[in-house]
Amino acid sequence: MLTLGIRTKILLIIMAATLLPLLFLNVFWTNSQRQALINEARSRQTLIAGSDAEQVNDFINNKVRTLIIHSQSPSLQQFNLSKASLEIGTLLYQDKDLMRAALVDQTGQEVVAMTSDLKSATKQNVKNDDAFKVVNYFGGNQYLSPVTTDANGHPMMTIAIPLVTFTTPQELGSLSTAESGVVRNPQDIKGALIVQTSLENLWHTVLSTTGTTDTPGGGYAYVVNDKGIVIAHPDEAFTNTHKDLSATPIVSLFKTTLGNANSTTQSQQSASEKGVEVMATYQKVNATDWAVIFEEPMSSIYQAVSQVSYLGLAISAIAIVVLGFLSVWLSRYITQPILTIARAAKKIGHGDFAAQVMTRRKDEIGTLAANINAMGDNLQAYIGRIDTQRRQLAIILNSTADGILALDSTNSIIIANQATALLCKDTADALIGKKIQDIFPLTKKSHPFILNYQAATTDVYTNLEYKDPEDALHYIDLIVVQAANQTIVTIHDETKSRELDTMKVDFVSIAAHELRTPLSRIRGSLELMDASDSDSSAKYVAEARKSAEELSTLISNLLDVSRIEESTLALATEKVDLALDITQAVKDMQMSAKAKDITLEYSGNAESEYVVGNSIALREVIDNLIDNAIKYTPEKGHVVISLERRDAVYMMRVQDDGIGIPMNARPYLFTKFYRVHNGSESGNTGTGLGLFITRSIVERHNGTITVDSKGQGSVFTVTIPVFNEATFAATHKLKGGEYDAGHRGWTTKDITRRR
Ligand code: ADP
Repeated sequence: MLTLGIRTKILLIIMAATLLPLLFLNVFWTNSQRQALINEARSRQTLIAGSDAEQVNDFINNKVRTLIIHSQSPSLQQFNLSKASLEIGTLLYQDKDLMRAALVDQTGQEVVAMTSDLKSATKQNVKNDDAFKVVNYFGGNQYLSPVTTDANGHPMMTIAIPLVTFTTPQELGSLSTAESGVVRNPQDIKGALIVQTSLENLWHTVLSTTGTTDTPGGGYAYVVNDKGIVIAHPDEAFTNTHKDLSATPIVSLFKTTLGNANSTTQSQQSASEKGVEVMATYQKVNATDWAVIFEEPMSSIYQAVSQVSYLGLAISAIAIVVLGFLSVWLSRYITQPILTIARAAKKIGHGDFAAQVMTRRKDEIGTLAANINAMGDNLQAYIGRIDTQRRQLAIILNSTADGILALDSTNSIIIANQATALLCKDTADALIGKKIQDIFPLTKKSHPFILNYQAATTDVYTNLEYKDPEDALHYIDLIVVQAANQTIVTIHDETKSRELDTMKVDFVSIAAHELRTPLSRIRGSLELMDASDSDSSAKYVAEARKSAEELSTLISNLLDVSRIEESTLALATEKVDLALDITQAVKDMQMSAKAKDITLEYSGNAESEYVVGNSIALREVIDNLIDNAIKYTPEKGHVVISLERRDAVYMMRVQDDGIGIPMNARPYLFTKFYRVHNGSESGNTGTGLGLFITRSIVERHNGTITVDSKGQGSVFTVTIPVFNEATFAATHKLKGGEYDAGHRGWTTKDITRRR
């Protein structure tokens, strides 16, 4: 559907409110004016036609009266021809309209005939003329001929008066040879006075009514007879051809009213004799059966009103233009600030709270703009506060060690903190929108555990298990709280503390077990010594000392472990000859190798392969690896140690062809107390601490340790960076360090406890 903007609506309303009444007024006024003009024209035409008809009437009546008066002269009555000639000459002289006059006797013979120039005319016998019928047939009535034209084409008519003797007194005003109540015989009529009269002057007077001040533009009169034939018309062609206009509406209207006693003047709006739309009025001429018709084209009647109507239309057109501009201006005035406000509101809606509506208006629109501006400011401040709170919340959430999650009613994650992300090896953002059951599949005692996160209570779930994407098992406790359509899940990872607990228990039991063995041996030796002679007691003392040394080593190792754990182990470093240390160790271990008939060899330089390190600690590494190689290699086996330089590192390999290390044991090999082959099956005692300590020492020398085992035999590879003078000088401003190397283990005097 078409939606109109405010601007268009205002435009239309203003136009409708102003133009419609204007147009309506114009049409109404035009119509009423037209009617008034028609009425005015009708009465004007009635007057003109009436006056014209009156003139024709008077003309003819005057002529008839004059002729009757002359016909009563004794010279005519008695046919005294000389006197009659004088009388007729006087008549012609007095009336310039008369063209010919003749005295006719009872037989129709003209006895006197004169023309307007007062000369005798040729006398004719007129007994067959219509005019002569006044004597025989009209009962004494005068005769008026139809209008004809003379030789010059001018209109003329014939009037005949019977020569009668009046039997009653006559009034001059209504003189007529037809006396009422008198019946004349033809012998009572002595003859006739017959004249031809020109109508030119009459027509001039009658037909010249056109174009006067009363009949503006185009109005004219014409005369028709009772047959509808034109008698006189301004257009001479009509007159000359005796045009039959009986079909013209106004003429036909006139004809239908003929003979009607009270026929009155009538007007009609119709087509004219020339096919023009006219207003026409006819008026019967009383003396004859003629009618004077006056008509004016409708266009000229309406001219005045048309002009005003055009003026009205022109004013309307100007008004449209002016109002158009006015309403455009008005609508701009109203809508422009609204649009500005709408734009600002849109910006605010999109988060641009600094958007301001600039207007100088002091009216309601100004108030609205000010309110929008204030709203934007308030929103900005409000959002700012919310943002601060949100950031604070994020900081709090991310600084807790426990995982915290917020879920919606479909168990989708809407908030996840850093601890959660760490736990499931993902980023906090990536977790948003995921389902918690997909992220945290839980088990309890290895059975799947389905948890209802939408329960409306606060629930605590303990001893749950969760395997992270790297397959590491976590022991977790969950607290699930429902509040305001959201579920808050707190995940507490128990794995570390559990491991610590297990470790403590293990450590104590292993330590106790390991300590008991050498102690019981010492006790046994002492008891034997007590009951033996002095010779053999030396042997028991030696055994007791050996066991005491083992005990001491064990205690040293345990101490080392706890220092490593507490990170209080500090190494004082110096330039150490690794080759020399290895040579020495191989020499020292030959005894125990020989005891198992194992060949122990070293391939490499005997000395001068320098590294930066702690000699005692490095010796511990070498001893541990060779000791293990001998321990886990059956009799007659081979142990080979090598040392070679690879670029910036020395690579020391301890290789044996012993029992090897299974693949699945390798990830745990360097962890505390881990033993692949426990003592009972292999006959080897150990604590599972050696490789743990070894790796710690190697790593503190910026080195690496790896193990490789192919079914039989194992290879331990240690790398240590080659000695570098510059680095050494930079890191050893204080030369050397002091060492307490009194034990098999390695420790520094400088143990700084951090707690
Ligand atoms: P311990 O030797 O005291 O048991 P270690 O930490 O030195 O402890 O060694 C851990 C375990 O690694 C040993 O118990 C043994 O099972 C295995 N191991 C170490 N070195 C070798 C080797 N050279 N050959 C076979 N197994 C070995």
